Amino acid sequence: MRKPDIFDEIIQCLKTGASVGADASMSEETLHDLYARPHRAAAPSSAPSASPAPSGATVRQAVRAPHPQQSSAVPAYAPDLPEWESLRTECASCMKCPLGKTRTHMVFADGNPHAELMFIGEGPGADEDASGVPFVGRAGELLSRMIAAMTFDRATETCIANIVKCRPPGNRNPSDEEAAACMPYLKRQIAMVNPKVIVLLGAVPLLYLFNLKGIMKLRGRWLDYDGIRVMPTYHPAFLLRNPPAKKDAWADLQAVMAEFGRKPVPRR
Ligand code: SF4
Ligand code: URA
Repeated sequence: MRKPDIFDEIIQCLKTGASVGADASMSEETLHDLYARPHRAAAPSSAPSASPAPSGATVRQAVRAPHPQQSSAVPAYAPDLPEWESLRTECASCMKCPLGKTRTHMVFADGNPHAELMFIGEGPGADEDASGVPFVGRAGELLSRMIAAMTFDRATETCIANIVKCRPPGNRNPSDEEAAACMPYLKRQIAMVNPKVIVLLGAVPLLYLFNLKGIMKLRGRWLDYDGIRVMPTYHPAFLLRNPPAKKDAWADLQAVMAEFGRKPVPRR
C-alpha cells in the first residue's frame, strides 16, 4: 500500500468539510505548505481575539471552510474540435521518426482541448503505449492527484500531452531527432488549445520547448511561450523516486493555482 503523501492530504481536506473530522490532522509539512509559514505562527495581529483558538484548531477550521472554486462552473467538455481530431488522425499514421515502427499506440493527448491548463510531459511509457492515453501509469496516477490537489478536474479542465507521441523503447528519453520530428504536432496542439498556463513536467519539455537545461534551478520560475505563462516543475516519475521534492512541486503548482485565482484553503 502506498503511503499517503502531501497530495493525498490536500485532496482529503478538499473533499468535504464534514469528512475532515475534529481530530483530523495534517502533517506539519502539509500545513507549512498550505500556509507558506509554520502553522504554529501566531494569528495575524489584524485579527485580534480575546481568546485565540489553538493554532491547530484555526487551521482545521480554515480547511473545512467551503472552497469558492468548487462551486464555479466547469467549462463544458467539448472534445469534438474538428482540427484536433484531424491532427489526431494524422499522428496516428505518422512514421516521421523511428518510434513509429515500435509503438503499439500513438499517444495523442488526454483531457479537454479547450482547457485553460495544459501539462506537457516527455513521452509515453509502457502503460501509455498499451492504452493510447498519456499519464495512466504510476506517474500518471501521481499526476492525477497533483491535479486534484490543485482543485482542477483532469478530464474537463486540463489537456495533457507529451514531447513525443510514440514510446521510446525501454523508457529512454526521446533523442533530439525524435523530439524534432514530433514537436511540430505538439506546437499545433498548443496553438489549438491556447491555454492560459502550461506546466512543463521535467527536464525533457524544458529542453525541447525552451532549449534550456537545469530543471532543478529553473523549476518554479515563470517562462513565456508565445504569450502563454509556462511553469516548469518536476516530472511525477522523478517525484516518485524523490518524495521530498513533492513539496517543491506543490509550491510550483500553487503558483499556477494563483494564476487562476484558486487557493487550496481560504486565506485570512
Ligand atoms: Fe511521428 Fe511523433 Fe510518433 Fe515519431 S514520435 S512517429 S514523429 S508521432
Ligand atoms: N511520462 C510522461 O512523460 N508521459 C506520459 O504520458 C507518461 C509518463
